[in-house]
Amino acid sequence: MSITVVPAPTFSDPSVDHAIQAIVSGASTDATCSTDLAAGPWDFDSRPGYGPGSSMGDVIPTGAPRQGELPIEYRDATEDELDARIRAAKEALGDRVVILGHFYQREEVVRHADYVGDSFQLATAAKGRPDAEAIVFCGVHFMAETADLLSRPDQAVILPNLAAGCSMADMADIDQVEDCWEQLEDVLGALDQVDADGRVPVIPVTYMNSSAAIKGFVGRHGGIVCTSSNAQTVLEWAFERGRRVLFFPDQHLGRNTAKAMGVPLEQMPMWNPRRALGGSTAEEIADSRVILWHGFCSVHRRFTVAQIDQARAQNPAVRVIMHPECPMEVVDAADEAGSTEYIRRAIDAATQPTSFAIGTEINLVRRLAAQYPQHDISCLDPVVCPCSTMYRIHPGYLAWVLEELVAGRGPNRITVADDVAEPARLALERMLAAKPPVSGAR
Ligand code: SF4
Repeated sequence: MSITVVPAPTFSDPSVDHAIQAIVSGASTDATCSTDLAAGPWDFDSRPGYGPGSSMGDVIPTGAPRQGELPIEYRDATEDELDARIRAAKEALGDRVVILGHFYQREEVVRHADYVGDSFQLATAAKGRPDAEAIVFCGVHFMAETADLLSRPDQAVILPNLAAGCSMADMADIDQVEDCWEQLEDVLGALDQVDADGRVPVIPVTYMNSSAAIKGFVGRHGGIVCTSSNAQTVLEWAFERGRRVLFFPDQHLGRNTAKAMGVPLEQMPMWNPRRALGGSTAEEIADSRVILWHGFCSVHRRFTVAQIDQARAQNPAVRVIMHPECPMEVVDAADEAGSTEYIRRAIDAATQPTSFAIGTEINLVRRLAAQYPQHDISCLDPVVCPCSTMYRIHPGYLAWVLEELVAGRGPNRITVADDVAEPARLALERMLAAKPPVSGAR
């Protein structure tokens, strides 16, 4: 493991990489959840698991994509060398390539992005660059799939590291979801049977953070996709068409949204795919309004009510804003909750210097802190623990795929098969017709 010793980061340095290197070298007294984060992600490409960071305790599904070995020249290059190589390759490619950078990406990657934003915004951003033959998506696997669904067939979507999955999306496996659907049919009867009110027994709703296979399943069964900015409107759409909703993969977004709409918690059973009937009784399923898939984001699950109490003890005036992927009790204890775009806009709209404690991924929080120096912006989690899979996209992989494109090759292309893509697009179109996501919402 090679560690670069750097000075302790200043408040204006948004680099989480620098913060972790400083912790590991002893230049900073902050804490990180894993000192392995100071190594390059290539140290973990051939190992099972998501690697260090927030998802490191999650079980990676068998068959999850693995990345081949990154050539040594990219692994050994310094930050400055990689920066120069990326700039040169990007210039050589010109309009033939567009680089997309998710909010949760490391600063050393985001600085090269033509567009920075959330998954849906980025998936549609390539429309603004019609000459681009290649869309290099610096995000995770489901995001690249969504970009493939929404881009032209002749545009190649490239994920710089194939091992950049998403542990939450991986928690809803298509075989488990098909099995769940069959079990629901056993309890509720034919699931396409319309009642006197014109509603079917259950409408499937999937969060954007899901595989194309899940979006396709939803599209085939009369369902719809949502983001964290339009989840309530999407649930209203679903309740007009169904007596209940099957919501996946994020239990927390489903629970927080349905609770805010007045759905009682006792009518939101959890579906654990490893248990018969998801762990509920037939009566509980029959009485349900929202069936919550047993999925979660390991980044947002780190936040606790105790952290909020501590932030308020230090500064009673602090404004606490959580992402709705956080657990219900944490969202309830916060001052506000909303998507990444909500968080960004709330900070942007604050006219007086304000202290913000933010509950979302640390790369975004540190970038906001650097962008808005008039405010005191901190991550509610005191431990530096980025998303494990976003961490997989290192500048070394970005330099590699760009130089491969310059050489006329196109590695790591992500494509969605036509039989999945068609119903998946239908589910996305239903969402756009019901309520497009707030620009920039995740
Ligand atoms: S932050 Fe959570 S939902 Fe987003 S990519 Fe990482 S694990 Fe997945």
